[in-house]
Amino acid sequence: MECSLDTPNTDGARRRAELRDRLASLIRIVYLWIRGIQGSKSFLASQLSERIGRRRACLHRPRLESRRRVSIDTSASPASPERTDFIREIVAADLEAGRVETVVTRFPPEPNGYLHIGHAKSICLNFGIAREFGGRCHLRFDDTNPTKEEQEYIDSIKADVRWLGFDWGEHLYHASDYFEPLYAWAVGLIRAGKAYVDDLSADDIRDHRGTLTEPGRDSPWRDRPIEESLELFERMRQGEFPNGARVLRARIDMAAPNILLRDPVLYRIVHAAHPRTGDAWCVYPTYDFAHGQSDAIEGVTHSICTLEFEIHRPLYDWLIENLPVPSRPRQYEFARLNVTYTVLSKRVLLRLVSEGHVRGWDDPRMPTISGLRRRGFPAEGIRDFAALIGVAKSDSVVEVGLLEYAVRGVLNRTAPRRFAVLHPLKVVIENYPEAQVEEMEVVNNPEDLSAGTRQVPFSRELWIERDDFMEEPPAKFFRLAPGREARLRSAYFVICREVVKDAAGEIVELRCTYDPATRGGDAPDGRRPKATLHWISTTHAMPAEVRLYDHLFSRPDPGAGGRELFADLNPDSETILRGCLVEPELAGLRAGETVQFERLGYFTPDPDSTPGHPVFNRTLTLKDTWAKLQAQGRHDAT
Ligand code: ATP
Ligand code: MG
Repeated sequence: MECSLDTPNTDGARRRAELRDRLASLIRIVYLWIRGIQGSKSFLASQLSERIGRRRACLHRPRLESRRRVSIDTSASPASPERTDFIREIVAADLEAGRVETVVTRFPPEPNGYLHIGHAKSICLNFGIAREFGGRCHLRFDDTNPTKEEQEYIDSIKADVRWLGFDWGEHLYHASDYFEPLYAWAVGLIRAGKAYVDDLSADDIRDHRGTLTEPGRDSPWRDRPIEESLELFERMRQGEFPNGARVLRARIDMAAPNILLRDPVLYRIVHAAHPRTGDAWCVYPTYDFAHGQSDAIEGVTHSICTLEFEIHRPLYDWLIENLPVPSRPRQYEFARLNVTYTVLSKRVLLRLVSEGHVRGWDDPRMPTISGLRRRGFPAEGIRDFAALIGVAKSDSVVEVGLLEYAVRGVLNRTAPRRFAVLHPLKVVIENYPEAQVEEMEVVNNPEDLSAGTRQVPFSRELWIERDDFMEEPPAKFFRLAPGREARLRSAYFVICREVVKDAAGEIVELRCTYDPATRGGDAPDGRRPKATLHWISTTHAMPAEVRLYDHLFSRPDPGAGGRELFADLNPDSETILRGCLVEPELAGLRAGETVQFERLGYFTPDPDSTPGHPVFNRTLTLKDTWAKLQAQGRHDAT
């Protein structure tokens, strides 16, 4: 049977798919607009209220803001059960027409590395569809290449899928569970004259394959007797031949326009111990031979994969048609996720780790799920991102700013506010009693008053942020300056009376006075300083190391234009600050809990922390440059 990729229908189908994508975008726009009008504290509303620096999302503001954003960012959509895309439409239609009773999807990682944000898109899609349509999603390890696969990766993948909020229940599978039936089906193909053992080397097979414009040439072994192939295949299994000596190939069509149908390799000899099957096998099925058949064994109804597998689909279908498989899964393809300033390829990520460019697979700069987690990204933010980008049929590159935008939306709602000073400058309040300590009541999260308040100790000597003072302030600098009054958040108003410098002329201390009548941050006479600063009592401050992160690559398109990929690494992707000071409350924070250091950004404890030496990672800054640049109509916003 011949299958061609270039069927006359392909263009039309693609156009239809694009139209559907556009329609879905339009529906998302209307949906967002309606949510904006409702003025609810939606994902977008809370995000926008943060961006414009408001404490509460007033009714009219989200409406105006979301309308504006929507008109610019057509891909935006909050997570919502009403969302749809071309794959969900197919699933819904199959269920409605009775072609499928229960929808079964699967997420099939190869355990040869840690999962990244691209995988998160696929996980959200596969598990999301199963959840929305009352079906199930399997986690299946595509473990057919023992030379690259490791138990560490299997464990990390399971942990990451769970952390993202998905559950495969009892449906954990491995392609290696099916090595016996797969082998038996391969033997069946040989018996039916549809597969043969080929003695050509890998290079010769490539030479014989032909090109896009020229048909391939038959291997001299293509017509070898069935009995001979059966015997050789059995001997391959018994380990009689070295790696690469022979392969099993399907016998399809060496002139097929789709090169993948020119007698594809089904089995190769690999003398390597497998993490699960040990030394039981030395022949392993290829991806193409294992994948569709594993789907069929598990009763997968919709086998959803990325676009590069579109060209594999005729082979997927050929195998399903020619093997006595128990069900008939169908393959659907969607566009893989690409993100600016980011490389999503396990091969490259492995190099970054093994060459020591990062601290490991979970380095906070890595686009891996474990890296994003260590950086303090909440799972909900990643799921929201997946919902925002939607599912399309044409490749595109998503701005990394959109991921940050989704994460900020969640953190703004959920992250408790805390005080921390990254570049400390001492303030002495001269008229404050020497031994006195007051507990100031500070709101934990102005976006969520149910988060309550906490007591923060206040005393005569404080740390403030060095940037919050200027001796000779320019016109637009409203913070502390000589003779000027500023508010210390939830505490008192202070006036700077004197600047103390060291021998080198560097400012080492500010002498201030406070107004006892302003306790809590309001003056009885109604005067309002232009700036509110955060602070920490010097006697109560906890020293900490803080790691600031920027993009791992310095260009939006790393390695483009033939540049050496690693030459585009950003030398300033990590900045380590020592001697930072944080409020004592933060001693109890655990890895995975993200807080907002007021006015500075979102931060989370790093697992490198020890009891005497806390380390915090900056998850994100507060500034939403994405929204700002989008508002200016620039699409290269990051
Ligand atoms: P990589 O290209 O990063 O090495 P891969 O495709 O080899 O990844 P697999 O473990 O085979 O990784 O992927 C498991 C599933 O995740 C597949 O269904 C694959 O299509 C999907 N996937 C991988 N990368 C992306 C991506 N960037 N966007 C969306 N889905 C992806
Ligand atoms: Mg793969």
